[in-house]
Amino acid sequence: MAKGSANQAKSVPNKHLHARIAYLHQAATHLALQRPPITHTNSSHVDPHLQQRGLPLLLAAQLQAVSLKAQIRLSHDMKRAICKVCSTPLLPDTTSETSIENKSRAEKKSCADVLVIQCRNCHAEKRFPVGVQRQQKKAKRKAAFAASNPQPGKQTNETEMDNV
Ligand SMILES: [Zn+2]
Repeated sequence: MAKGSANQAKSVPNKHLHARIAYLHQAATHLALQRPPITHTNSSHVDPHLQQRGLPLLLAAQLQAVSLKAQIRLSHDMKRAICKVCSTPLLPDTTSETSIENKSRAEKKSCADVLVIQCRNCHAEKRFPVGVQRQQKKAKRKAAFAASNPQPGKQTNETEMDNV
């Protein structure tokens, strides 16, 4: 029994679902752009009812459901462009507000910059650290450490024990 032909190995699995996700994203973004922008309301006065409902939210929710069901990872940009709470497509100055926040003392530390994207529909916030460099994965850190400190096997075992 052959374990998959060359054609199957090259083709992307669940290609039709990738196409569906892309279509849903484009449709949701397009429909959200056709609507009047959500008026800015004070976040302290939270309206229990969403200002906007309907097709864009439905399509974005369907997009998330498809990716969840098929276990397809959404790209960073696509994932960040949808509100987790109400599924509104987050478009700058139309359905969301973007600001940079820095809670360090006197805003001195540039590494404490946080990008805050607030959904105007439900006032939920997404926060992303922007000033700080992301730590490398553990396998890469170990490889870099081993490359910088070439030692006999016994000593590396001891250092690994110290790290644990
Ligand atoms: Zn929202």
